[in-house]
Amino acid sequence: MPRMKNDRAESPPPGRERIFQGLGVAPGIALGTAWVSDDTAPSTPEYMIEIDGLAAESQRLKDAVALATKQLRKLKVKSQSLPPAAAEELGYLLDARLQMLAGSRLIRTADKLIAELRLNAEAAVRATVAEISDGFARMGDAYLAARGEDVREVGERLIRCLMATPYVALKHLPEGCILIATDLTPADTALLDPKLVLGFATEQGGKESHTAIMARSLGVPAILGIAHLVEGLKTGDPIILDGHAGKLIVHPTPETRDRYEAQGVALKQERKRLSRLRDMPAVTLDGFTISLNANIELPRDLEGAHRVGAEGVGLLRTEFLYMNRDQAPDEDEQYEFLREVVDGMDGRLVTIRTIDIGGDKLAPALREQIGEPIEEAPNPALGVRGVRLSLAHPRLFETQLAAILRAAVHGPVRILLPMISHIGEVHQARETLERVHKRLKRRKVNVPEKLPPLGVMIEVPGAALSADGLAAVSDFFAIGTNDLTMYTLAIDRGDERVAALYEPLHPAVLRLIQFTVEAGLRYRIPVSICGEIAGDPRFVPLLLGIGVRELSMSAPKLPSVKERIRALSLTEASRRARTIMDQADAKRIGELLDDFIANLGVHSV
Ligand code: PEP
Ligand code: MG
Repeated sequence: MPRMKNDRAESPPPGRERIFQGLGVAPGIALGTAWVSDDTAPSTPEYMIEIDGLAAESQRLKDAVALATKQLRKLKVKSQSLPPAAAEELGYLLDARLQMLAGSRLIRTADKLIAELRLNAEAAVRATVAEISDGFARMGDAYLAARGEDVREVGERLIRCLMATPYVALKHLPEGCILIATDLTPADTALLDPKLVLGFATEQGGKESHTAIMARSLGVPAILGIAHLVEGLKTGDPIILDGHAGKLIVHPTPETRDRYEAQGVALKQERKRLSRLRDMPAVTLDGFTISLNANIELPRDLEGAHRVGAEGVGLLRTEFLYMNRDQAPDEDEQYEFLREVVDGMDGRLVTIRTIDIGGDKLAPALREQIGEPIEEAPNPALGVRGVRLSLAHPRLFETQLAAILRAAVHGPVRILLPMISHIGEVHQARETLERVHKRLKRRKVNVPEKLPPLGVMIEVPGAALSADGLAAVSDFFAIGTNDLTMYTLAIDRGDERVAALYEPLHPAVLRLIQFTVEAGLRYRIPVSICGEIAGDPRFVPLLLGIGVRELSMSAPKLPSVKERIRALSLTEASRRARTIMDQADAKRIGELLDDFIANLGVHSV
């Protein structure tokens, strides 16, 4: 969605402490220096390539040369429609540039720098261009100086082509930086290396956007929705990011710095205290056991899930495998990815959700297979997203199902369908699954004899209201409260301008959750909650009180949820939940919940 750039704010004098306020979406304190990502003028990244990556880097350069050549040829065709004299002039110019791309010194030297200095392709092109055009300029001849300009132009085009894959830059941020950007997509966020990036802040994005979710699962403190952020900072500014309070402090005074350093230490101690809960059961005071699972995006998240003692994976967002790449993964690659997760969970249940591309999660690599760009739909959140995309592209869906079935021989697996709104979609998906299963067996591929359980996400109000019908055809439910809240209240979860209205405690949302849980109980199918509220200790008494016994959340949230469970009586929580479910006002609901929590005994570990 295009955004209007805000009017420029008055710039305060440099060096004075300034505070920006936004939405704190991932807790933690980061003290570091700003690295401002300027979308309009991307700086050329420079980094070293591992030896075994040199061939791939050289291929990146070749691909960029092919793309630049294609662009120039297109330009040449277009130029034919100009008046003849202009077409001729431009034709010569474009021919000269095309020749440069066809194996000239520019390309040969850049390729050599990749191989010999292990430079990344962008930096290799930049260095070669500088060397050649400076050489021309030194000769003091106007004609040669103009040729230098041509070299520079071709170099810029090549760098732009290389950086059409913007993920390359985000992978190589300087160590100890705090990333500042206008916007970060979920795919961008997935690239951040928590060892290098201490935190990030952006102008756009809501509390339950996938960017926010990704930050929480990476354990990187983050703030979204800060107005006038990018124009108010520059790379190198010392900053403090408080991901809990949503405060970003630029040029902090020594006193502020001391205060936040102390807070950072206290936070670390609190995490250490909670880590002692790892092997303790998630059992209420009156003896009810709750299953606590992890939401993960990539195999790298497994370590975090084990660290907090997750019982299984309640949600694997497979769409992240399709992001930040030029080609979609084939069946074998998907199988390897899934096998890594299933093996990594050591016999514990893994819930694999089929791809949920669409809305704010995009995968340009799928463009060739799916044709029309889905993000250009009039309303992407209501368009071809989740299971709709899978069912519309049977080859894509069948490939993923085949990979899942193959991975299922390595450990217990369930298959979860996102964005279900019609019973027919479940039937269609099950038929496809059975067909793929039969085909693989016929080919003697190693797959389980029995099909894995097939469940549906309840994240559309219409699905929640027809939970009875869906329960009859599903093996389990996972309630996606992030989308359920968005679609019930008509509030974009990713839009900071309506973030204050995004309220999962709204009685309409709670009733849909309760209705779904009760349908699951009647049909004796497991029901879990895997939206962000499952990882918020504030919601725990209410969710347990209305019958939920399975929660799935980003791993760092699990210890505090477990602590809350161990401190409450399910009988009392159910009583309070009954009172809450009679309320009409989200504010009153929040008060009743907070009052219940305030009266819980403290059972420290
Ligand atoms: C949800 O909508 O609550 C959910 C878990 O799915 P996602 O956040 O991936 O849309
Ligand atoms: Mg969802």
